[in-house]
Amino acid sequence: MSSKSFLPPKRTLMGPGPSDVSERVLQAMARPTIGHLDPAFVGMMDDMKRLLQYAFQTNNALTMPVSAPGSAGMETCFVNLLEPGDKAIVCQNGVFGGRMKENVERCGATAIMVEDDWGKVVDPNKVEAALKAHPDAKLVAFVHAETSTGAQSDAKTLVELAHKHDCLTIVDAVTSLGGTPVLVDEWGIDAIYSGTQKCLSAPPGLSPVSFSERALDVIKQRKHKVQSWFLDLTLVMGYWGGGAKRAYHHTAPINSLYALHEALLMLEEEGLENAWQRHAQHHQALRAGLEAMGFNFVVAEQDRLPQLNAIYIPDGVDDAAVRSTLLQQHNLEIGAGLGALAGKVWRIGLMGSSCSMWHVEYCLTALDKVLSEMGARIKSGVAVDSAKAAFEQLKKAS
Ligand SMILES: *Cc1c(COP(=O)(O)O)cnc(C)c1O
Repeated sequence: MSSKSFLPPKRTLMGPGPSDVSERVLQAMARPTIGHLDPAFVGMMDDMKRLLQYAFQTNNALTMPVSAPGSAGMETCFVNLLEPGDKAIVCQNGVFGGRMKENVERCGATAIMVEDDWGKVVDPNKVEAALKAHPDAKLVAFVHAETSTGAQSDAKTLVELAHKHDCLTIVDAVTSLGGTPVLVDEWGIDAIYSGTQKCLSAPPGLSPVSFSERALDVIKQRKHKVQSWFLDLTLVMGYWGGGAKRAYHHTAPINSLYALHEALLMLEEEGLENAWQRHAQHHQALRAGLEAMGFNFVVAEQDRLPQLNAIYIPDGVDDAAVRSTLLQQHNLEIGAGLGALAGKVWRIGLMGSSCSMWHVEYCLTALDKVLSEMGARIKSGVAVDSAKAAFEQLKKAS
């Protein structure tokens, strides 16, 4: 027998997700497994729905976690709202818009692409032009917080535009939920999905989703069966629908749900506004440190996501060597560039439990050390003081 228990190394996670999971959430996950129809578990599910409604700022009755990661939340939105022959306007300004296009096409629908450069936000003027050119479009789909670039699009304006042209909206809030404002009811979002491993800081594997009454009406009037049995909301709702008569659909990932429940409880205890402010302030601290070292950001200042900082790699620096040294010598994970930005940028996450001054200072110190030792032309020894000074100033002002 050569196998033994797997003991993962203790890392600090400052990439595009997963983020650090707190001891409190890990302990919740380790509690005893009970049956998925046990009345005690069902009580937890009801409370989970309330906590998710708070996180999404919605009263939508159909608000629940899909039993699979963020990509399954994405697929849940598309397969339930689209039918063969439909047309959907899909905005792409990074990796995840491309995944939306795949979903649309696999539903037998046509994707009308609205493209913007990586690092830029979705341009509402282009979306409006597409809506005018395609009056028969059924919905508009876009990524609120593009994790591949660190750009945040104006969800409120995009949803307004879509509604003006009688379209539904699908919004990817995987990275925004819990980090920056996501106001489902106020903005009128019809279908939204998120993930657990970004700013909620629970383990990966679940996808919170929420659907408006308007979206539900469209689902009820479908002519074709939803192509996916597992993600068909009319079936899933038999289990998550609430009330006493929950029916078996699939065995819920019970312990993962304990973890998500605890993470959402922590978010409620902190308060959404406070969580948003925490992400904004630590982003400014990290930014001050990175800029003092000589780094430049990919995204224009007003469009930056506080929880995902994409910076250009200095000339002549070996991307992979730096990241592997950070991991091996400092147990620190940061993200590589994707697609058009591969090899050109690093993505530093400040998500959920990974968003603290400890994380900011740890990351700046490790980056300074590794880059200096490699002979990179950065300004050494100034980053942490700059970050601390910026943070103190923000704290005083708030
Ligand atoms: C991470 C992410 C996803 C996919 O989530 P998984 O849990 O990896 O399936 C989708 N959209 C965005 C914007 C993301 O950041």
